[in-house]
Amino acid sequence: MADTGAHTGMTASSPAGGVTTAHGGGARTGPLALHGLSVEGVNSCVHCGLCLPYCPTFSELGTEMDSPRGRIFLIKSLAEGRILLGDATVAHLDLCLGCRACETVCPSGVPYGQLIEAARAEIERQRPGSPLRRLFRWVNFSLLLAHPRMLRLAAAGLRFYQASGLQRLARASGLLRLLPGPLAQWEPLLPTLPPAADRAPLPAVFAAGPPKRGAVAMLAGCIQQVAFGPHNRATARVLSANGFEVRVPREQGCCGALHAHSGEHATAVELARRAIEVFEATGGEHVIVNTSGCGAHMKSYGALLADDPAWRDRAARFAARVRDVSEFLAAEPLRGPLRPVRRRVTYHDPCHVAHGQKIRAQPRALLAQIPGLEVVELREADWCCGSAGTYNLTQPEMATRLQERKVANIVATGAQAVVTANPGCIIQIAQGLGARGARVEVKHIVEILDEAYAEPAPGGPAERSARRGA
Ligand code: SF4
Ligand code: SF4
Repeated sequence: MADTGAHTGMTASSPAGGVTTAHGGGARTGPLALHGLSVEGVNSCVHCGLCLPYCPTFSELGTEMDSPRGRIFLIKSLAEGRILLGDATVAHLDLCLGCRACETVCPSGVPYGQLIEAARAEIERQRPGSPLRRLFRWVNFSLLLAHPRMLRLAAAGLRFYQASGLQRLARASGLLRLLPGPLAQWEPLLPTLPPAADRAPLPAVFAAGPPKRGAVAMLAGCIQQVAFGPHNRATARVLSANGFEVRVPREQGCCGALHAHSGEHATAVELARRAIEVFEATGGEHVIVNTSGCGAHMKSYGALLADDPAWRDRAARFAARVRDVSEFLAAEPLRGPLRPVRRRVTYHDPCHVAHGQKIRAQPRALLAQIPGLEVVELREADWCCGSAGTYNLTQPEMATRLQERKVANIVATGAQAVVTANPGCIIQIAQGLGARGARVEVKHIVEILDEAYAEPAPGGPAERSARRGA
């Protein structure tokens, strides 16, 4: 089977199934780096092991090399030239979700997210894989994600495939089995795309609801815009209801988060520079983001461009303007009136909101302001659901284990809906709930807020309550 995604079927050997040690070369001197990116942070690790019980892969497998401490050891050994990038090392590093739960609990402040990104860039440099894998990555990372127009075209094609009945036919006839590599297994993971009107670019400006409090810029995102356009519109409406003019620059594209997390460092840098230029021109005090990985990544532009004197300060200034939508809205009480949303919900913390941006209280504080909404806590709420960018494609077994664990916890709450704040989590959790036959809705937090601001349908429950003076 060709390897279009994960690093499978590669050639380096590893003694006794362990890591491959370097022979003949002495340990390197100078600052520790992989693919030119600093990994000096490995030296902050004091090997205390406090992070181990919080690491999903260690929790599932119980092996040291699938723990944060083990992976930090591998990254340090690689950077020092003491081991080679053999199959086993790649496998342990590839199995990391990049969820950064280890960062949250680390008493030494190890910047684990930076370390794994550097390691992934080095893996891509040394072991780019088969021609088919390279082609697949080029199509996704360089052609589609980096060019919004191409992504919209591809989305239109996918929507036609899904809405025309072709998808049903392909699944029923077994044609999917003819797809190369793991593509047949990936097909069921495709999100169901909305109609063209919902995928269309947002208006350039949403007016502020009176009285105006300010103006913000908004990231529409790449996949977010074509797969979850209604969430973007809901975000803009809620910001507008709270007195903010929302500017959505047409020239914006992908922020580069998926590239950085997948070892495509050069493209990540290029996209970061483009995003900074576009949003600087748009003005607005803050840049609002409603997708967790993008928000965490854009807040790290200062670090991403730290080695570039022409961009360093500009990137740091830009990063300081970035706000997750919950973080931004929770800074002040929500502007009323809010209509009742009578539902029992629970909240799943996306990794890059909870661990990447340390935002936990704010979404809960927003939900607590909605009348009629009952919020019940979720066990392991900040435990990764297995989505993790493209992880559910490249590591399907571990992704499914974590998905099932998450879904079991959600079902145990008895909630009618699970609320979260990231498209990847929404797709992964919805698929897991569907596979289990659980009738639980999956909502972005902006959808719940938008519902609380919505005009009641004529004769609908909210209007009838209002007439009764409720
Ligand atoms: S990463 Fe942090 S918590 Fe984990 S072993 Fe190292 S110092 Fe301890
Ligand atoms: S990022 Fe997540 S999966 Fe990776 S080592 Fe840290 S806790 Fe474990």
